[in-house]
Amino acid sequence: MANAHVKRERTCIGCGKQSGKGELMRVVRMPDGGVAFDQTGRAAGRGAYLCSKECLATAVKGNKLQRALKVAIGHDDVERISAQLSAAFAGEETR
Ligand SMILES: [Zn+2]
Repeated sequence: MANAHVKRERTCIGCGKQSGKGELMRVVRMPDGGVAFDQTGRAAGRGAYLCSKECLATAVKGNKLQRALKVAIGHDDVERISAQLSAAFAGEETR
């Protein structure tokens, strides 16, 4: 249906930087409305991308995840996703 050559840009919702595949962490809104850290980067659903722990903090503070994913995210879910993303970013840095 859409043009197959449309570029799939992944933009960090914290700083607006565009990065290639694998450089950004993905948060996905699943078909059931739940929100989760998408470790594989391939889960079905609307995704939001983050490039760093700083951007994660910015996104959480500014409710950017909710806006990017167009869904209300409960406080507990935000905490859970933040913890998972923080751990993932920490892992990337030590690699
Ligand atoms: Zn960023």
